[in-house]
This record gives sequence, C-alpha cells and structure tokens, in this order.
Amino acid sequence: MALRLNSKEMNKENMRPESLMMSYGYKPELSEGAVKVPIFNTSTFVFKTAEEGKANMELAYGLRDKNEGEELGLIYSRINNPNLEIVENRLGLWDKADDCAVFESGMSAISTVLLEFLKPGDLLLYSSPVYGGTDHFIHHFLPTIGVECVAFTAHDSKEAIIKKVIDTGKQDKLKLIYLETPANPTNDIIDIEMCSKIAAHFSADAHKTYVAVDNTYMGPLWSHPLQVGADMVLYSATKYIGGHSDLIAGAVSGHTEVMQRIKVLRTFLGNMASPNTCWLILRSLETLKIRMDQQTKNAQEVAIFLNNHPRVKKVFYLGLIKKGTHEYEIYKKQYTAPGAMISFTIKGGEKEAFGFLNKLKLMKLAVSLGSTESLAQHPAAMTHIGVDPESRQKMGITDNLVRLSIGIENVEDLIGDIGQALA
Ligand SMILES: *Cc1c(COP(=O)(O)O)cnc(C)c1O
Repeated sequence: MALRLNSKEMNKENMRPESLMMSYGYKPELSEGAVKVPIFNTSTFVFKTAEEGKANMELAYGLRDKNEGEELGLIYSRINNPNLEIVENRLGLWDKADDCAVFESGMSAISTVLLEFLKPGDLLLYSSPVYGGTDHFIHHFLPTIGVECVAFTAHDSKEAIIKKVIDTGKQDKLKLIYLETPANPTNDIIDIEMCSKIAAHFSADAHKTYVAVDNTYMGPLWSHPLQVGADMVLYSATKYIGGHSDLIAGAVSGHTEVMQRIKVLRTFLGNMASPNTCWLILRSLETLKIRMDQQTKNAQEVAIFLNNHPRVKKVFYLGLIKKGTHEYEIYKKQYTAPGAMISFTIKGGEKEAFGFLNKLKLMKLAVSLGSTESLAQHPAAMTHIGVDPESRQKMGITDNLVRLSIGIENVEDLIGDIGQALA
C-alpha cells in the first residue's frame, strides 16, 4: 500500500488508531491544503512520462519487484485511487494489519475471499450459523463450482471438529476455515485460537489452511482476530465502520501475502469501493471509537434491564456470560468489551414478538446493525427467513427471538422505549 504522507505522520507505532483517523495517509499539500481529503472522482490518472507509466504498470502486474523506496503510483481507479488507499491505510490500523482492501459491500469482500482461497475439489470448514448472505453463497454457489462445505457449531469440541473434517475424506483439501463470531443472531462465540490450531493441524507442505473471521459484530474495536491466530479479518463496513446507515461497503484486513492475493482478484472482479463510498467511510472512521464506546455502554445497561424484565425469557449478550465458564474464557481471550448486539426471547411466540416490535417508538424496526440509531428486528421472519425452518430451530432462531442493535441515543430514553413496548 502506498502512503502519500509526510514522514512525521508515519509514526503510527506511537499513536492509537483513534488519533490517526483524521490525518493518517493524507498529505494536505497535495490537495491545495484542504484539511479534509477531497473526493477524487476520476477514473484515470495522468502519468508524468511514458517511463513512469511503464514503471507503474510493471508493478501493478507484478512483473518485477519494487525498487528501494519505490511506491506504486496512481494508475486507474479500479486498481488504486487516493480515497481508496487512504481509507485502507486507516482501517488497517485498528487490526494492526499489514494491508487492507475495501470493497463495495460486505458480501463482495466475503465472496472474493471464498473465491480466492477455494478452488474446485477443495473443502471449506465453516461455523454455523453465519450471516444469511454468506449462508446462501456457501449452500447455493460454492457447490456449483465443486467446493464441498462442512459446518460446525460453537458447541463442538476441537476433536469433534477435526473428526468432521476427516469424515469427509478430503482433509488434504481443507483450504479455508471461515468463522463468524459471535454468531448472528444467537451471540454464540467461537474460539478463534482453537480454529487456528485446527488449521495448523491440516496444513501441509503442499498447502496452508487459512483462517478467515467475519468480525462485523465486534470489530474493528472490540476484537482483533489477527492477534489470536486468524490470517484475515472480514467486515461488512456497512455496519459499525460506516455507522450511519448511509452506505454499503466491505473490507478485508490481513497479512501481506494473503492481501496480495485478495487485491489481485479484486482488481479483476472490479468490486472495489468507489471514491464516494470511501470518502463517506473516512468521515465515519473519525468518530468510530466514540460511537462504539457509547454503543457498548448503552447496550450493557439495556441488557441488564431486559434480563430483569418479567416479560423476557432469556437474554443473549456477551456481557451476561457467567464467570468461570468455558465461554467466559473465550470471551476474555478475544474480546475487550461485550459489544452492542443483544438478542432476547420474549415470553410467548411470534405474536408477542411482533407486538413488541410494532410498539417501539424510538427504536426503528429495520434489519442491519451497528449504526448510530438503535434498530430492532425479528430474525426468524426477517434476516434469517431464508434458512430452512428445521435448521433455524436448531440454531435457536425461534419465533419469540428479537434482535436489537443498540445505538448512541440517551440510554434512559432507550430503556423507556423498550419498557413501554414490553408493557
Ligand atoms: C451485513 C453483514 C454482512 C453483509 O454485508 P453487506 O455490507 O450487507 O454486503 C456480512 N456479515 C455480517 C455479520 C453482517 O452483519
């Protein structure tokens, strides 16, 4: 990744990401001194000389290694653009990643990773449940290109998971372990470090088994999967990163070697984010930490309120995991806060759950999550309606389950709204 900035700003080791979100990777002198990054709405970039054009193209196509101190110049906005590069440089800081790639949606980040690391005949091991769109891609697209998929859950032990892989008879073809933790919408958590040990178990001289983690629910603030053994971390940047319900985007961060592969495939699928989308994400990254801090603070109070409410059957929230349990050990190892996603079952069934949702005044009834405004939805009838009813039941996505994404409103107003809707 090319950094178009002053050497004094390069000092990223000494500063925390929230301090760097307003300046890192941007040199005002190159843009008439503008304090904010302008939107570079241009498809192509003028080369100073034909020799420079040739040198850039050689690098872009990987025809030679970079010379000492050489950076890839701007060529064409499907390959690189200042807005895209700056947003990638800033977003990667949160996960201490070598590099980051931003996409036009979370699904395009996910599908690009699955297509790059899985070829016909390969085996995918994935955690279940996963996001509905990911579930569809795994069940309906990957089999059409000859990729076999095997699922495990948060309740399976390491030995049980290894046995599942061996039982397919394709353990030498296991190329990718794909995780979503906490799982949507049940908040089941999966041990990332254990999965990286499973990947090491199946890695061979001929191939490495990679671990990819969808960190949309907890990142990039409350969990850093790369630090506990993952090779790449994936985001729907539509959620916390964008944070204002006004854009669709995705991202992958990771080590140089995997990011190189992902960026090359992105160049040829052409699913990078536009300069306008990148500019909106830059705006969002400036407030990422204060938004997420407030969201998790609010959520902890809402979870306690729900947990004590007579109309509520059970609350699924990371902040309510009991000390001394195996789950708590995993929680402590890979999360720094309990997040802002709460699911709960209401006493009764669909009728009571719908009654609650219809009575909310402040909270909006909508799918999606991670935004400044609080959202509520019914997984069985909304986000997970595509999952077949029997597996839905097994996953705990029952007719009385409601999912909340807590925003930055005043917490007493939120609790007041939930209270009146439950009454
Ligand atoms: C929303 C979401 C996605 C898909 O992202 P889009 O930006 O909608 O394409 C993937 N994973 C999780 C966990 C999500 O919540």
